[in-house]
Amino acid sequence: MAKDNILDVAKRRGFFWPSFEIYGGCAGFFTYGPLGSLLKLRVEKMIREHYVNNERCMMIEAPVLSPEDAWVASGHVESFTDITVECQKCGEAYRADHLLEERTKKSTDGISLPQVQKMLQKNNVKCPKCNGSLDKIYDYNLMFKTFIGPGKNKISGCLRPETAQTTYMPFRRLFELARKKLPFGAIQFGRSFRNEISPRQGLVRLREFSQAEAQFFLDPKQKGSHPNFDAVKDVKLTVLTKHDQTMNKKGKVMKVSGLVKKKLTNEWIAYFLAVSVELYKNMGIDEGMLRCRQHKDDERSFYSSDTWDVEFVSKVYGKIELVGIADRTDYDLKRHEEFSKNSMAVNIDGRKFIPHVVEVAYGIDRPVYSILESCMKKDGDRVYFSFPPAVSPYQVAVFPLVRKDGLPEEARGIYDLLIDAGFYVLYDEGFIGKLYYRQDEAGTSFCLTYDYDSKKDKSVTIRNRNDQKQRRVKIKDLVGTLRGLINGQTDFEKVGKPIK
Ligand SMILES: [Zn+2]
Repeated sequence: MAKDNILDVAKRRGFFWPSFEIYGGCAGFFTYGPLGSLLKLRVEKMIREHYVNNERCMMIEAPVLSPEDAWVASGHVESFTDITVECQKCGEAYRADHLLEERTKKSTDGISLPQVQKMLQKNNVKCPKCNGSLDKIYDYNLMFKTFIGPGKNKISGCLRPETAQTTYMPFRRLFELARKKLPFGAIQFGRSFRNEISPRQGLVRLREFSQAEAQFFLDPKQKGSHPNFDAVKDVKLTVLTKHDQTMNKKGKVMKVSGLVKKKLTNEWIAYFLAVSVELYKNMGIDEGMLRCRQHKDDERSFYSSDTWDVEFVSKVYGKIELVGIADRTDYDLKRHEEFSKNSMAVNIDGRKFIPHVVEVAYGIDRPVYSILESCMKKDGDRVYFSFPPAVSPYQVAVFPLVRKDGLPEEARGIYDLLIDAGFYVLYDEGFIGKLYYRQDEAGTSFCLTYDYDSKKDKSVTIRNRNDQKQRRVKIKDLVGTLRGLINGQTDFEKVGKPIK
């Protein structure tokens, strides 16, 4: 599916569009419209329900703006940089390593600043826009900086580039709330900010984006075994290890238990790879396009000892990292202890130590895009999104067949009934073919029509989005029928009666 198609539909139907359009736009910012806001909310809801209910994470919500000191401690002020190069002629800025990769078709992971400079010159790399000469490369920090407060006493502040640090800083309080026991988890949903050099990939690379990052604090002795590991051990995943990548091998399908047995990673990381792939499948992301990729040694962030991503291999953008699962060791808590002079050590059964952290860091915008790409279907002239009901912005739409003879009032009554029952419902009126067309593009799972026969047979017509089949359902059975259809326990073919 071509990018233009997805972006066209997304804009036209109000999923999302580039922000600040009336002022000429600004790269790296997108606004979610009515449908996209709902879809995003549903993605967040699925992640929240899993982590709060099943993993028993506490939720926390911290400010997006913090004093710069916190980011000096975390290492971001020093190390959260990209190698940048500007065109001497037109001034356009580029990721120097990306330009080099495009030219040489080789990975630049782990090569040093002077090497990049040398390679750019050696390969005679020019500005892709105007063919001008490139200036000297430099390290560019991706954090947005500002000031907090006025006057002489104002302090430097940064917008957070990740939620993680804002969950680590109150560690002592969280540990108290967890009744001084390990392991425990805390999850934070919210916006983060990265002043990307040249974001041109829609929702995939944003300067302001949404995250859901879960942090599990544990005794390093607990790293070897996750309490729920048995539940996922037979799950099969497509895996690309760091070794596979170094040897230029393709990924292979492996059982989760195999990852641990072969010492490719620990039970915690393996467990959350399986959990994440399952969540993505339930969101409607094409499983065949997902793979679990281990970071190579020279690519891993400065704070991590082992990192894996679940990637969506997009037909439009190439590989997209959806979640990063990292063993961050005791690095972050140690740094906050050192810089804040507040102890982060715990005392468990007479042993004093700083807990380790396993982080599961979800982006929210990228799965939203991946769901759209996975679910967009074309059937002749018809375009529809085959969203599973778990993420459909609207699960049900209700229409009267015509706008007269009391049908709208009756249809509204059905809308109210379904809203009260807790479904995501939309009410609309108009020409029925057009209404169906509109709901197909919105990815609404089921459409209900109240017609002239409805008064007599106390039934409505239900239409299934994917195959456009229709059945007749008694109004009194509607709530139960829809529940069954939505949770996948009822087959559409067995709903109500066929249309005469
Ligand atoms: Zn140029």
